[in-house]
Amino acid sequence: MPSLSCMSDRSYEVIVVGGGHAGCEAAAAAARIGARVLLVTHKRSTIGEMSCNPAIGGLGKGHLVREIDALDGVMGRAIDRSGIQFRVLNRRKGPAVQGPRAQADRRLYRRAVQNLLRRQENLDIMDGGVEDLVIAGAAVAGVVLADGTTARAPRVVLTTGTFLDGLIHVGSRTIPAGRVGEAPALGLSRTLKALGFRLGRLKTGTPPRIDGRTVDWASLEAQPGDDPPEPFSTLTTRIRVPQTNCHITHTNRKTHDLIRESLHLSAMYSGRIRSTGPRYCPSIEDKIVRFADRDRHQIFLEPEGLDDDTVYPNGISTSLPENVQRAMLALIPGLERARMIRPGYAIEYDFVDPRELRPTLETRRVKGLYLAGQINGTTGYEEAAAQGVIAGINAGGAPFALDRAEAYIGVMIDDLITRGASEPYRMFTSRAEYRLSLRADNADQRLTPAGMKVGCVSGVRARAFGRKAEQIGIARRQLAELSATPRTLRDLGIPAADNGVARTALDLLARPGVDAAALARLWPAVADIPRSALQQIANDSRYSGYLGRQQADIDLFRRDESLALPVDLEFGRIDGLSREMREKLDSVRPETLGAAGRIPGVTPAALTALLRHVRRGTGRRDAA
Ligand code: FAD
Repeated sequence: MPSLSCMSDRSYEVIVVGGGHAGCEAAAAAARIGARVLLVTHKRSTIGEMSCNPAIGGLGKGHLVREIDALDGVMGRAIDRSGIQFRVLNRRKGPAVQGPRAQADRRLYRRAVQNLLRRQENLDIMDGGVEDLVIAGAAVAGVVLADGTTARAPRVVLTTGTFLDGLIHVGSRTIPAGRVGEAPALGLSRTLKALGFRLGRLKTGTPPRIDGRTVDWASLEAQPGDDPPEPFSTLTTRIRVPQTNCHITHTNRKTHDLIRESLHLSAMYSGRIRSTGPRYCPSIEDKIVRFADRDRHQIFLEPEGLDDDTVYPNGISTSLPENVQRAMLALIPGLERARMIRPGYAIEYDFVDPRELRPTLETRRVKGLYLAGQINGTTGYEEAAAQGVIAGINAGGAPFALDRAEAYIGVMIDDLITRGASEPYRMFTSRAEYRLSLRADNADQRLTPAGMKVGCVSGVRARAFGRKAEQIGIARRQLAELSATPRTLRDLGIPAADNGVARTALDLLARPGVDAAALARLWPAVADIPRSALQQIANDSRYSGYLGRQQADIDLFRRDESLALPVDLEFGRIDGLSREMREKLDSVRPETLGAAGRIPGVTPAALTALLRHVRRGTGRRDAA
């Protein structure tokens, strides 16, 4: 790994700034493409740090992790090596909305990410703070470090998280910081403003941490994980990390009274913080005010590690003063005698309006400059990592974008670049209109071939993918050849219409409630089919009726997406567009007619005018 002094001897094609979740994926993806990459981050030891809750995945977020894994990213493999409790959320609902989630051992997670990066070819890592960018004409040419050293590269990916002009709040105390105990990035924020980027301010928060040795575990409800735990990565055959329980407790009227009485002391409610926080991950102060009729809120007590007594109380992030946080904990069942290790806090930081970005995450303003992660107005490790993969592949030199019908990653990036972020953006399954096709279980089927084509998938994964595809093909044929009469089926307790028509094992697998074990009772050979292949076939069959209908919607979507708008289109010169429409279109500069239609407030009439103009310009007959 290079030191500052030897850096000038090396030349890099990509520099990634920041070793958080976006930065690690960006650096690894660019290096997988074959580019020579330098990752510069404040402290190498904090690479893979989880700033807030020690968990990966969840509803919508789990889909993103599987998609990152399908493109050979780091996150899925890292959580499989560090997860201490795995649960598939929404298991009782259909596979399309199930979300894999795992509690992580923080230290093991950091170690896993650092090991994966250490083994990545073409990637150098160095400690350092980036203060400025080197700009040549309209393009980026490198970065300037805090000690004045310059590192040059034609493409730079900024993934600075919550560090841009970060300011921590605990009650009335404010501390300039990017994360607790770490200095903010001030220079880069100034540089981005000077370059004309539209910057906004957002906030997020974290709860106090508790000493697990002082919690009354016996009085609390335990929440075990799945047995066996289901890995995130298709490269993981089995989870080897010992598994543990989480526990559940609740706030109560007394806790709520205390918080209500102390609201004027909270940084958020005293007016010291004006920026918007994550709506779906509110602070406990927010919950008390917004859901005033509720007399309790659930708190998950999550262990931060196997050899670590720190407990993360999920659900009570706060910016109340320390003494109030201590008093609040003492009023929560099971935590009456709990010792607070560290107070919770809120943090405000700058972000760049993501409407400044192209679908590749390159900025439109500065050629070669890419942004990924929380800097783009998102919240969450998974959202950050997913953007990192896309920015990294593109910065690595391979043009690559995903659309809304291909991936949750495509949905997120399209939402960001067409709508911007007025509050921290997090992923949900409800954001994906084609979610029946975009399932967590088929992420590899959807994306690994595209990843192989673009060159970001290793030989190991490509071979594993080929084996699985082959297994699915063989299993499908095998299942289609096994058949049984309705009577045999009924004898085995499988409902079947009394019409004498034989049913194949493939037909039966499409039925909810019929699983591999039931089929194996009838046809012992089914037990030899690999579980992952069977599961994939079952999920595909269960949705096959709906997928046909969804395909018609996807075809319509693709029709508008295929209508590319010229990158230099002057919206001001289009006849029939109001000033408001011109301004809206100009602030986003959509690259397709479809993207133009997704800009909030852009009317069908404006789209018709746009279409007419583009068709005239390209010499096509005006069909609008
Ligand atoms: P980060 O993980 O923040 O990583 C940024 C990296 O860049 C760091 O390693 C930093 O040292 C480095 N860096 C920054 N500037 C420079 C520079 N100039 N030079 C060199 N290196 C630099 N998400 C949720 O989903 N739910 C939550 O409840 C939640 N709460 C949070 C609470 C707090 C207090 C914080 C800080 C974050 C919280 N998050 C939460 C957000 C989550 O941590 C981030 O979304 C995620 O870590 C973003 O990943 P990232 O890669 O963009 O940035």
